[in-house]
Amino acid sequence: MLTFTGKGAAGGIVIGRISVYKKGAKAVKRYHVTDIEKEVSRFACCRAKAEKELEGLYEQALKEIGKSNAAIFEIHKMMLDDEDYKESIENIIRSEEVNCEYAVSVTADNFAQMFLAMDDEYMKARAADVRDISERIISILQNNSTDNTHMKGIVLADDLTPSETLQMDKDKVSAFVTVGGSLNSHTAILARTMNIPAIIGCKMDSMEELDGKEAIADGFSGNLIVEPDEDALVFARQKIMEETEKRNLLESLKGKESITADGKKIKVYANIGGLSDLGSVLENDAGGIGLFRSEFLYLEKNSFPTEEEQFSVYRRVVQTMGGKEVIIRTLDIGADKKIDYFGLAEEENPALGYRAIRICLDRKDIFKTQLRAIYRASSYGKVGIMFPMITSVDEVRKVKKISEEVKRELKAQNLPFEDVELGIMIETPAAAVISDDLAKEVDFFSIGTNDLTQYVLAADRQNPKLDNMFEEYHPAIFRLIEHVVKNAHENGIWAGICGELGGDTTLTERFIKMGVDELSVSPPNILPIRKIISECTVG
Ligand code: PEP
Ligand code: MG
Repeated sequence: MLTFTGKGAAGGIVIGRISVYKKGAKAVKRYHVTDIEKEVSRFACCRAKAEKELEGLYEQALKEIGKSNAAIFEIHKMMLDDEDYKESIENIIRSEEVNCEYAVSVTADNFAQMFLAMDDEYMKARAADVRDISERIISILQNNSTDNTHMKGIVLADDLTPSETLQMDKDKVSAFVTVGGSLNSHTAILARTMNIPAIIGCKMDSMEELDGKEAIADGFSGNLIVEPDEDALVFARQKIMEETEKRNLLESLKGKESITADGKKIKVYANIGGLSDLGSVLENDAGGIGLFRSEFLYLEKNSFPTEEEQFSVYRRVVQTMGGKEVIIRTLDIGADKKIDYFGLAEEENPALGYRAIRICLDRKDIFKTQLRAIYRASSYGKVGIMFPMITSVDEVRKVKKISEEVKRELKAQNLPFEDVELGIMIETPAAAVISDDLAKEVDFFSIGTNDLTQYVLAADRQNPKLDNMFEEYHPAIFRLIEHVVKNAHENGIWAGICGELGGDTTLTERFIKMGVDELSVSPPNILPIRKIISECTVG
């Protein structure tokens, strides 16, 4: 048994035989040409053929995977038509007096390098697209067929382009595993949409000898287990069964509204830590994102993320959600989330110490950089901002003032943004108790039951010995939630829960009856919660 590990790009687990995919194109050779104009027109002719192929693929994709996913082939057509791309190829043919295949291949490398050097993850992923269109032209130039329909089982490849992925027969292919690739690539997106488990970045020295071998491809953990032993097979079969049950539930609830039996709409949103959670958000049909823990952006770096870096991530999330609300929580650092480059001193009681909004109000430079990035992302969809660890009206007024400053500055620089809803997390006892006053200052409340529980029960959430205090339901927490929701409604704002209690399906009905308007939970909990909501009544 051999295990190779990559990143899970599309969930699901399958047992099957590996089929190693070999690209159709032969190696590209460079040779001297004498008739330059003939070579340039050879390129023009093959480019036109490629365009026709893409039109066909677009039509096929439209039928099989819907308009938004089919759009990739329109983008490819646009790339094919890009003046810089065409010019680069023609220039190489003319200046170096070389063959067209070579010029296309060099241009593909140059453009791919340029995309890979960009900060924006989305743009980085476009490197695969430019390679895809170039391979298509080269294939036509070399008279290669691009028939991939024979591929079956667990398809193992160095890399796959979106068109190679789409051209494979969905009924025969059970998983994609690639040695290269990125989570943002359209291949990964297509795999998720096609509901085919996918692993990318699965490092291995050579794949030839794996052809035909039995394997387990686990798109959740990112593991490819070749020639699995009996234990691994039993475990995989069990997971497949659980998944099938979940999927059945999922399918029947997808696309439906989260609405109680007596007609109240409840927002069922997702909690995320970053871009890599978006696949699961979409797969589970979240109504929006209710908590984007933005501090993970800071935690995964060795220095402060720049405004541009943050903007590109927020924009990507907002764009992916296509108009659905995305609530970004500002930096919640400190306590258990420590970052060296912040240079924070050791504290006796970090959970009761210098964290979250307390740091942001002191370090306006860090705070404003983040707010600028969030506001800028707001022009790409529907954004909300919420502030963690609030204890007083004064803090809220300060954050509102800083938000206004940021808006003024963006306006002065002609940078577009939209007005966004501003909310606060209710996660300190103080905030819960004075929620009537706080409600007059903001657009919404999101109750952070994880911290609220630790502060109300004086129980450190990091201490495993106290776990049972979080598992048992203390009436103090429910009374506070009820109090907060009532104060929110009396002041005309909505209230949700984004702490772990919100995802506890045994409490859903109780929260709905309390009047909770939103539950923001980890993506796999969304559909089970939607099911309970549909069966319960508010009244
Ligand atoms: C909470 O405290 O309930 C919450 C959602 O925030 P975090 O768990 O990130 O502290
Ligand atoms: Mg918290």
